[in-house]
Amino acid sequence: MKYLILSDIHSNLEALEATLAHAGRIGFDKVALLGDLVGYGASPNEAVEIVRSFDAVWEIRGNHDKVVSLIDNGEQFNIMARSSCEWTRKALEDDNLEYVKSLQQGPVGVEDTFFLSHGTPLDEDAYILTDLDALEVFRFFPHRICFYGHSHIPLFFTQGGPNGIVWDAPGINEDEKTMDLDPDMRYLLNPGSVGQPRDRNPKASYCIFDSEGDGRVTLYRVEYDIKKAQDKIVQAGLPKFLAERLALGV
Ligand code: ZN
Repeated sequence: MKYLILSDIHSNLEALEATLAHAGRIGFDKVALLGDLVGYGASPNEAVEIVRSFDAVWEIRGNHDKVVSLIDNGEQFNIMARSSCEWTRKALEDDNLEYVKSLQQGPVGVEDTFFLSHGTPLDEDAYILTDLDALEVFRFFPHRICFYGHSHIPLFFTQGGPNGIVWDAPGINEDEKTMDLDPDMRYLLNPGSVGQPRDRNPKASYCIFDSEGDGRVTLYRVEYDIKKAQDKIVQAGLPKFLAERLALGV
């Protein structure tokens, strides 16, 4: 089974469409989303409607989805993140807002094969950025494969080999990176962000996980019309930096 793994779409329609077109050419069977469908970008309704149109989908909520839904008051957010959540709440059609509100808390298991979490499977709002963060998760979350998001940084952590925890990330110009999974190892895998990458590579980022055999994960980077996404953000009156950062990949 091939799963398309998407995280942190953040209302970026142009990035989402380019990603789906690219993934469609490669081929996948089912879709799993790691949260933060909305917030930051200017196309929340379009992004939600595309996700709602998928047939087989697992989806969990992210911290921005929670603030948009008023499940969380967002007091820990900076002013740009908070104002974009307020804008998004007003911009969303009622049924799309209901959909965002209904997203479940991670971790969620997918067909006895792998798990989905937004921040970490222990805390949906915490980050996995370092091997120490990964160590804590490996210690207290006893499953073999978990995809996570939230940091917007594509990164693969592996545990179980002679070197303890090792991490691997795509190079700045690397548009494709494949890792064959070992049945005796455990994995924390971040597909990066579709709609707001932060590893200084502005291309949209996603993974396809092939569960055949021991499993294989491939990360892809996709060019999209950044200018169009930026123009919409500016026209919507959202903070200008939210447009600028898309071209910088920060
Ligand atoms: Zn996010």
